[in-house]
Amino acid sequence: MSPKPIPVAAPVLDGRELEYVTECLTSTWISSSGRFIGEFEERFAEFCGVKHAISVNNGTTALHLALVALDLKPGDEVLVPAFTYIATANAVTYCGATPVLVEAEPRTMNLDVADLEAKITPRTKGIIPVHLYGHPADMDPIREIAERRHLWIVEDAAEALGARYKGVRVGSLSDCATFSFFGNKIITTGEGGMVTTDDDALAARLKLYRSQGMDPERRYWHPVVGYNYRMTNVAAAIGLAQLERVDHHLAERRRVAAAYDARLAGLERFIVRPVAENWAEHVYWMYTVTLGQEAAIGRDAVIHALAAEGIESRPTFHPMHAMPPYAHLAGAGFPVAEDLGARGINLPTHALLTGEDIDRVCRALKRAVGAEALRPA
Ligand SMILES: *Cc1c(COP(=O)(O)O)cnc(C)c1O
Repeated sequence: MSPKPIPVAAPVLDGRELEYVTECLTSTWISSSGRFIGEFEERFAEFCGVKHAISVNNGTTALHLALVALDLKPGDEVLVPAFTYIATANAVTYCGATPVLVEAEPRTMNLDVADLEAKITPRTKGIIPVHLYGHPADMDPIREIAERRHLWIVEDAAEALGARYKGVRVGSLSDCATFSFFGNKIITTGEGGMVTTDDDALAARLKLYRSQGMDPERRYWHPVVGYNYRMTNVAAAIGLAQLERVDHHLAERRRVAAAYDARLAGLERFIVRPVAENWAEHVYWMYTVTLGQEAAIGRDAVIHALAAEGIESRPTFHPMHAMPPYAHLAGAGFPVAEDLGARGINLPTHALLTGEDIDRVCRALKRAVGAEALRPA
């Protein structure tokens, strides 16, 4: 008998999701009006500690909408990490602007602040730090540079809902922030996203562009070219139910990370565990290890070996300049981003994992890298 498959991610819908979605169906409020949209936005803003939360239909449109509202134009440049999900750079490209890649720093995998300042040109308009895999970026030096060089900041917080930087929640650390509620994120609405800000004028622009650019005072009068990026009431119903249990969802991820940490401690020559800086509260969207110098086989072979035992895992992101649309941005290369993209593995990270599941993952991983003999699982 083959062992029970262990997925890398799994949505957990054990709150009032069904009740709220049923209310949408029975009331017929299934499109982009209805009580759940406003309630979800209000609760979300409160959770992040900001004045405004503007819901949208996914995390990529959240990024695009933020950049449109900040008036990003062709010819402008935006600093983005070389090591992140492709949506971060694509949103800049959608505006006709140019993403300028910034090297990663090897501990937290977030952008390297020293390289950030070196990449600023007279065309640079802003910075998109990403809180990668759930660990916040080091925002103080980033904010210091942005202030001194007159740049805006949009946090890409898609992977880090609930994470804290020096005690303060992500989503409230800059001009504006974006979130994703894709099925594998910290909380989900199926597909969905959110933009947060404390700036009233920016919030008004975000709402304007989210809904076809229609003048809020005059129906079917469109002073600008907008988009239809609205969230549905059905998605917001799921989101509100998820958010009501966000502390539970976050606690489960901490439990899983602690269980991995305990089982993988002391094996750094083979498996390097994720770092949480002392100023950070990591939410472990994905528990991400990198292979150490003495790992017996390469990263893809490890993923293969895990799959053979019914365990799904994922490679870390390819560095942006490795992919065809952004190959022209390679410059002299980004050795840290390249290394993280070549040696990283996202292990299963979700609330349904039992201690036994985590034992199984760690045993298979240790066997694959040749670390099994060192320490009983
Ligand atoms: C998931 C994700 C996005 C995009 O979100 P979607 O909802 O999938 O469009 C953007 N940036 C990062 C870093 C992500 O992980």
